[in-house]
Amino acid sequence: MIDTAQHATRPVIRRDIAGVPVADLARTYGTPLYAYDAETIRRRCRDLAAWDTVRFAQKACSNLAVLDLVRRAGVMVDAVSTGEIHRALAAGYRPHAPSAAATADALPPVHPIVYTADIFDRDSLDAVVRHGIHCNCGSADMLEQLAARMPGASVTLRVNPGFGHGHSQKTNTGGEGSKHGIWHEEIPDVLRRAEWAGLSVSGLHMHIGSGTDLAHLAEVAEALERVAVEIGRSLTTISAGGGLPVPYKPGEEHADLGGYFDLWNDTRRRLEERFGHRIRLEIEPGRYLTAESGFVITEVRALKRQGTRKYLLVDAGFNTLARPVLYGSYHPMSLCPAADDAAAAPTAEDVAVGGPLCESGDIFTQTDGGFVATRNLPAAAVGDLLVIEIAGAYGFVMASNYNSKPLPAEVLIDGGSHRLVRARQTPEDLVRGETV
Ligand SMILES: *Cc1c(COP(=O)(O)O)cnc(C)c1O
Repeated sequence: MIDTAQHATRPVIRRDIAGVPVADLARTYGTPLYAYDAETIRRRCRDLAAWDTVRFAQKACSNLAVLDLVRRAGVMVDAVSTGEIHRALAAGYRPHAPSAAATADALPPVHPIVYTADIFDRDSLDAVVRHGIHCNCGSADMLEQLAARMPGASVTLRVNPGFGHGHSQKTNTGGEGSKHGIWHEEIPDVLRRAEWAGLSVSGLHMHIGSGTDLAHLAEVAEALERVAVEIGRSLTTISAGGGLPVPYKPGEEHADLGGYFDLWNDTRRRLEERFGHRIRLEIEPGRYLTAESGFVITEVRALKRQGTRKYLLVDAGFNTLARPVLYGSYHPMSLCPAADDAAAAPTAEDVAVGGPLCESGDIFTQTDGGFVATRNLPAAAVGDLLVIEIAGAYGFVMASNYNSKPLPAEVLIDGGSHRLVRARQTPEDLVRGETV
């Protein structure tokens, strides 16, 4: 079902992305540039077809064209802010599914958009009320605030099971060290408060971390089942959350999603038996659906030596892709030489790759803790293109205007053709709203 071969060996020279020459993309749209391969996203959606609902955590990659693409692939969407609710609506999602005839063995209706957060800011509360959007509540305060505006609503509870995992402390979303969700021991009290406020609890959700391994994620199923029993028969939907890992480093492989589904399906079946009605089983990936589709295309602008270390400086920085500086994340890189002489195999060398920012942390080859590392790449020249790969999740969405750099353009490649799905910011964009 899952092709591991794609990442078994990485091209160190890359001349195309999904059949489109990298040089054409750079020439047409400029650099730095985000390019997404639509077919990779569709394939990742299909990988999860066993689940009743795949809900895209759009914060991983929220361009409208990407949302439209996953919507057409039958994927629902999660929104963590008013802005993400707005994006979901703009991409064609409706707050409510068209009502189907209810039969005894039919799954309960799906909520196309769910708002998931630990708070309502005033805007988001207005937005969910205005559109009637289902809420996944990570604090008891949210229940009372929602009840005051949407009496009788049904809600999902996000529960912190008391443990968590993530690829770094910053992506761990469970346990005492996490602000997320309602603490598992508070559930009886929170259920009383929900009932008193006139809300019914129809959903249960846990999300303990991002990019961790499935063995750790699997612990959630057991914890969720215990809480589900406390909630009881009002429950119609359970969500395994996100966190599915993707292979970033050479030698890493895709996880066994079939076994993971089976485990959750067993949990669901036991709850169905206990409650005597169908339970919808959701999964909520962000990274998994888009990470591998995305590439940052940059141009090499300088090569220099600092003592014994060689630096390759490109026109993208942590303003473009923040994961290395935030988490010490590893991204594969490949070179697209400007010269077309495929015959001359370039020699490889160890280089540190950095960007243009006035900030010493502006290094793509760094390890957790901020230590500058090197990468073995083909010898590059100014004007060559460097492609930073597996950048489609937590890439563009974390880009910033630091150093007054414009946000890069985004391009979608589909069926051998490509189109701009977000224009590069202009100098005027950078000062919009400012006055002297
Ligand atoms: C971020 C997030 C996800 C997605 O996490 P990934 O690791 O990208 O799969 C899912 N659910 C919630 C509530 C999140 O905040």
